[in-house]
Amino acid sequence: GPRVGVLALQGDFREHAHVLAKLGADVSLVRRPEELAAIDGLVIPGGESTVMDKLARTFGLQQPLKTAIADGLPVYGTCAGLIMLADTVLDAITGQQSLGGLDVVVRRNAFGSQNQSFETDLDIPALGDEPVHAVFIRGPVVESVGAAATPLASLTDGRVVAVEQGNLLGTSFHPEITGEYRFHEYFLGKVRARTVD
Ligand code: GLN
Repeated sequence: GPRVGVLALQGDFREHAHVLAKLGADVSLVRRPEELAAIDGLVIPGGESTVMDKLARTFGLQQPLKTAIADGLPVYGTCAGLIMLADTVLDAITGQQSLGGLDVVVRRNAFGSQNQSFETDLDIPALGDEPVHAVFIRGPVVESVGAAATPLASLTDGRVVAVEQGNLLGTSFHPEITGEYRFHEYFLGKVRARTVD
């Protein structure tokens, strides 16, 4: 299967690795820059973006990850992973950096203290007729989608919670914990398309 890495600095990387393995990917956990050479796609998990950012810089991964993204590596970020992929992050902590790549503005912890974690069903035509059951855990919202990016899913109030841009894919929610495999399949399609080039 396609060689897919999961950034394993922090967060729910094991859940992603499990889903990807079920879908037939050759999965590896990525913690060092050298490990990026052996993969054709990368998942950045949910967790805490402030911590993930600090660890990425501590382990010398920030610049190699930015370069890989610029070179067209397919990358899927969920929740904190979406924050890492966003060009602009609102309500970041002081000094927090993202990798960037996705032409979007996201706001961290955007759902307010009463409603930080919730579940809902989303209609996502790109993934078929069956609605996607989406679990939000202190997730970000995509406040604006730039010209280079495309919204994939919105809440009923119009707030965008999934986006794509070329080889990049991001969701505010966590398909990896609900048995929902279609986002990972969709992502593996991007990985396969690039591998055969
Ligand atoms: N609130 C977290 C952050 O800012 C994201 C939460 C998650 O990934 N479930 O990174």
